[in-house]
Amino acid sequence: MRCGREAAVYRPYSGEVLCRRCFTESVEIRVRRTISRYRMLQPDSRIAVAVSGGKDSVVLLHVLAKLEERFPKSELIAVTVDEGIEGYRNESLEIIEEAVRRLQVPWLKTSFKELFGRTLDEIIRAASEILGERRLGACTYCGVLRRRAINTLAVKAGADVVATAHNLDDEAQTILMNILKGDLTRFLRNKPARRNVEGFVPRVKPLREIPEEEIVLYAYFNRIRYHETPCPYHAEAYRDDVRAFINKIETQRPGTKYNIVRIHEKITQLIPEEEELKVSTCTNCGQPASSEKCKVCQLLEEIGGS
Ligand code: SF4
Ligand SMILES: [Zn+2]
Ligand SMILES: [Zn+2]
Repeated sequence: MRCGREAAVYRPYSGEVLCRRCFTESVEIRVRRTISRYRMLQPDSRIAVAVSGGKDSVVLLHVLAKLEERFPKSELIAVTVDEGIEGYRNESLEIIEEAVRRLQVPWLKTSFKELFGRTLDEIIRAASEILGERRLGACTYCGVLRRRAINTLAVKAGADVVATAHNLDDEAQTILMNILKGDLTRFLRNKPARRNVEGFVPRVKPLREIPEEEIVLYAYFNRIRYHETPCPYHAEAYRDDVRAFINKIETQRPGTKYNIVRIHEKITQLIPEEEELKVSTCTNCGQPASSEKCKVCQLLEEIGGS
């Protein structure tokens, strides 16, 4: 112990023993280093923070609000999408409201209902009726529509960057899943800061070097309330298997998660940067699209909407 205060955290991957205060500081320092290492933010950035109310996004909002105090020209705006999942979102909206009030951050909201005319529940019901067995997983509909909704909110907020709350565990899992699926395109595309897709506000992941466990501890030590109820559609069996596998190895060999993220970074650095990805405009909705119609319109059309 460097400071003489009571020990509260042991980090197996570094051998450090830290008190609550030193731990909190070290998390914030690591986020700050991640941000400068990948040039995620500028001193005058207008940052849209995607906040769902879960532990990662609420902690991200708190850490960025603290870091942002040093940059008076930068601004934070919390952005939230209500997917329309019965019995799930309401509590999280209250939690976000409390957080934005505490931190005095402006908050912009939208919903699938407002943007796409239906809630996620209604979309899944329609997809099951029309497509039966061929219906995609709820998280596929949710992910595609939420990405569009967050981008719409970021544009509305005049933001020049969107910060999302992916943590070290999420990143390590995604990298390994892409390897296991043999998906080289996604493997290479997964960047800490993605700014080269025309029509989309650039996205950055300031928490990508913070293990999930430490996000929970940060929230606990700093009395940050978050939404713990899991989404009723959460059933991503593949990711759960990969999570269990990585966690097992991490227990036996601390530092494995960092190693996965680092080796991925080294490999992607060997490959020349993608040119700005040119995308065309969706003939239906006018939003950026990689083919004639954007993914959102394709999904909604299949289930008789849009
Ligand atoms: S678990 Fe899936 S359906 Fe639920 S909020 Fe997350 S992405 Fe959406
Ligand atoms: Zn200390
Ligand atoms: Zn479209």
